[in-house]
Amino acid sequence: MGQKLGQHFLRQPAALRKIAEAACPETVPLVVEIGGGEGALTDYLLQRARRVIVIEVDPVLSTRLVMKYATDPRVRVVPADVLKTDLTQWGPAVVAGNLPYYITSPVVERVLAMGKVLQHAVFLIQKEVAERIAAGPGTRDYGFLSVATQLAADAKMLFQVPPGAFSPPPKVDSAVIRLTPHRRDGDGDPTPLLAFVGLCFRHKRKTLRNNLSHIFPPAMIDRLPEAGMRAEQLTLDQFRSVYQALAGGL
Ligand code: SAM
Repeated sequence: MGQKLGQHFLRQPAALRKIAEAACPETVPLVVEIGGGEGALTDYLLQRARRVIVIEVDPVLSTRLVMKYATDPRVRVVPADVLKTDLTQWGPAVVAGNLPYYITSPVVERVLAMGKVLQHAVFLIQKEVAERIAAGPGTRDYGFLSVATQLAADAKMLFQVPPGAFSPPPKVDSAVIRLTPHRRDGDGDPTPLLAFVGLCFRHKRKTLRNNLSHIFPPAMIDRLPEAGMRAEQLTLDQFRSVYQALAGGL
């Protein structure tokens, strides 16, 4: 079960402390921790948060966590799958975790969908995925994940953590990332824009004209200055304006 659930426990005190400091630069009222494991990060978060809600899907680990923190009223263990948990139910919160890598994208998507109650999120994830999330236009790593994340939040890679800091060590390098949601009102539901961005990246090497011509009239696409560009070259503002020009013109 362990390998399937991405159970690589972080053992290095310096890394645990740095993650807790990144999540809580000063004392915060509430941290929601994803994937509590044996409570290694929880202990460090408790030095900087008044309450910690720990979500852990593995029943053996969640039972151990309940026992470990039985006398600490600041901790509540939620024995559940994070992907089936309403993360907004506790109100405004910082979200943190040494994530199970196999569900990084859906977790990030869910956390960004928390809207106004998300203060910021700090995650230890696979380094390669952290690089893709934080990448800027025109770089090798820039793709759908970068655009989808950055439309909702400012993404910053903070520091790396080597495999030897974990037990058992993962086969990949890891890095800590911080996501700070944009505080913009009136952005509305991002789903249609994200679906459009997905279409633009359908074939990464093809131009927008080629990727979109089966959906929008080619004459309409050709009016855009970006028609001959590839999605990986577009800034977030360009995605927004191209979307508005095409979807608004239908
Ligand atoms: N926080 C601990 C640490 O730093 O050592 C454990 C981190 S380990 C990489 C990821 C944890 O997430 C494991 O304890 C695993 O059981 C848990 N997990 C895996 N899938 C999960 C899910 N869908 N929902 C909640 N927890 C999950």
